Amino acid sequence: MTDISPENVARMLDGVTPGPWHAAGPPWNQIIYSSGENRVAFTAHSNGLDDDRDIATARFIAWAREAVPALAAERDALAARLAEVEENLVGVCQREAASTVRWEAKLDAAEAREAKLRAAAEALGALPEGYCFCSKDRTGDDRKKHEPECAELRTILMEKKS
Ligand SMILES: [Zn+2]
Repeated sequence: MTDISPENVARMLDGVTPGPWHAAGPPWNQIIYSSGENRVAFTAHSNGLDDDRDIATARFIAWAREAVPALAAERDALAARLAEVEENLVGVCQREAASTVRWEAKLDAAEAREAKLRAAAEALGALPEGYCFCSKDRTGDDRKKHEPECAELRTILMEKKS
């Protein structure tokens, strides 16, 4: 594969006839030059079999004199931009990770609190259904079911358990 590293591009451009280059002349004698004193090449040709190709080839060589350094500069700019984006992305990921740790700590604290509440509700007798701390103020079937207060608490706690 062609070495297009910045170092090699700079090395290959070093000392080359200054650009821009132009291509001109008849198909069988295309001349590549930058000025009258800066002639670069007379191109070979297809002996009249493909004039279009002979002209296109010379045009491409002339174009490459400006295009190669321009592409190399664009490559360097894109590489720098990519490094910047990667650095930003690392920052975003680190912030997100820290945020996740904070949320996990909050979730753990909420779960611990809920477990304490559940234990407290069970200690009062509200779980499972039966006689509980509020039964003494109730009569009949309501002494066991104690709707709606304790029944609602039981429902919420049983939902959370499953
Ligand atoms: Zn109750």
